[in-house]
Amino acid sequence: MTTDGTTQAGYEQLFYEIPAPKVARIVMNRPDRRNAQGITMTYELDDAFRRACHDDRINVIILAAAGAHFNAGHDLSGEGPADPPRDRIAGLWGEYGGEGWQGAYAREKEIYLEITERWRNAPKPVIGEIQGSVISGGVMLAWVCDLIVCSDDARFRDATAAEMGIPGVEFFQHAYEMSPRKAKEWLMTGGWMTAHEAERQGMVNRVVPREHLSAAALELAGTIVARNPFTMKLVKQAINFSQDQMGRKAAMDHAFQMHQIGHMQAMLVGGVPIDLDSLPPAVRANIDKLIAANGPKPD
Ligand code: ZN
Repeated sequence: MTTDGTTQAGYEQLFYEIPAPKVARIVMNRPDRRNAQGITMTYELDDAFRRACHDDRINVIILAAAGAHFNAGHDLSGEGPADPPRDRIAGLWGEYGGEGWQGAYAREKEIYLEITERWRNAPKPVIGEIQGSVISGGVMLAWVCDLIVCSDDARFRDATAAEMGIPGVEFFQHAYEMSPRKAKEWLMTGGWMTAHEAERQGMVNRVVPREHLSAAALELAGTIVARNPFTMKLVKQAINFSQDQMGRKAAMDHAFQMHQIGHMQAMLVGGVPIDLDSLPPAVRANIDKLIAANGPKPD
């Protein structure tokens, strides 16, 4: 146990806690890096979702984040392991060290597309507790949540199209989270979506003052844990299946291939899998340093 009563339960970058009966709260805990998601956090999240889903004493899961910001996206720092741990890879694709785009495709499929889809399909209700900035890959983590409570300072941005030469993040759920016209504007401009606009778009359920965020998420969880947990699973499955019948999964699989074309175009033109010329100068400088130190990596 830590001094504030939470437990890391063997995780380096997460807290896993039981804030109320039948509620598991998974807290991303890299506030100094705005909770950027690298391999370590990805597989710790995967383990924590599995832990909560397999624990029959848990009915509802809250996904939260320590610090000022929910998530700054995929970790491009080059720190930590670059590849998924072989003994934890969930998919069956293989070829993770392949040449050309072979290895990168396998990596992106495993750690961004399929693992995120698995969390989206976790059978128990997941409530997102979201504050501050949510950027690119961070948006994927918001979208796996069934219900989202966010603070009035929350804001959302997918910068991949405007600044990286990629048509959107790997988990391409944009047109199912907001109107298609708004999704196009959001991607083409790379602008921020405020919490209140996200609520108008139906992307979040509630916007509350920052100081009430955790209490509001827990209150919503408390309402749902009082219901029959099997029925809650059936509700989730029925709505998720409805979205899939509206083409969500097929559209996502198609967009994933477009995403790969974006990476490969950048590779062919510039030798790295993102369009360096589109990057803001400060980010470009960091990426140039990373490339000089470690060689290019996909996002
Ligand atoms: Zn990618």
